[in-house]
Amino acid sequence: MTEAQLREWICRHGESLHARGLAHGSSGNISARLEDGILVTPTNSCLGRLDPARISKLAPDGRLVSGDQPSKEGFLHLAMYQERADARAIVHLHSTHCVAVSCLCHADPANVLPPITAYFVMRIGQLPLIGYFPPGDRGLAEAVRIQARSHHAMLLANHGPVVSGKSLDEAVYNAEELEETAKLFLLLHGRSTRFLEHAQIVDLQKRFPN
Ligand SMILES: [Zn+2]
Repeated sequence: MTEAQLREWICRHGESLHARGLAHGSSGNISARLEDGILVTPTNSCLGRLDPARISKLAPDGRLVSGDQPSKEGFLHLAMYQERADARAIVHLHSTHCVAVSCLCHADPANVLPPITAYFVMRIGQLPLIGYFPPGDRGLAEAVRIQARSHHAMLLANHGPVVSGKSLDEAVYNAEELEETAKLFLLLHGRSTRFLEHAQIVDLQKRFPN
């Protein structure tokens, strides 16, 4: 995709996420990697009403090259791109079911959602929980950086998910799959549930390698 196409497509995805209640107010941000930096949605912007020309363009060191001031969470995106050469786009949401899961006490913070469906295993796999940081805290970028070395999706405690993909579409679809899985997890809470077994997960990983 060209930069112009990516700008347009970020706006289309933002509008769709907002229309379906996955991004409310000015919450959530979307970014895409360019050859010479990244595009990221501006601070205090509503994902439902983005303007392609005003999307922030950052140099690899985080310097603003053009457009509006970037999201305060832009540094999260930069940290993840720096650690994941295969990441072409990142979606961060405050989507309700993921945030609910991020507020629960978890026995194993290294993986906070069970293998409920094949598509969760294929699109997300493991979901580590990162401890709480206040908005804009640089310590959060460092925590994301460490997890990004081995995970393309993670959940920020009392906050929301950060998910990357090998394309913009893939990042959005991964984030949507994660939100639906969090919803299922909460719906199934307290019920006797059959999760996928280890051998079934290994089989999926063989059939659909990343
Ligand atoms: Zn956030």
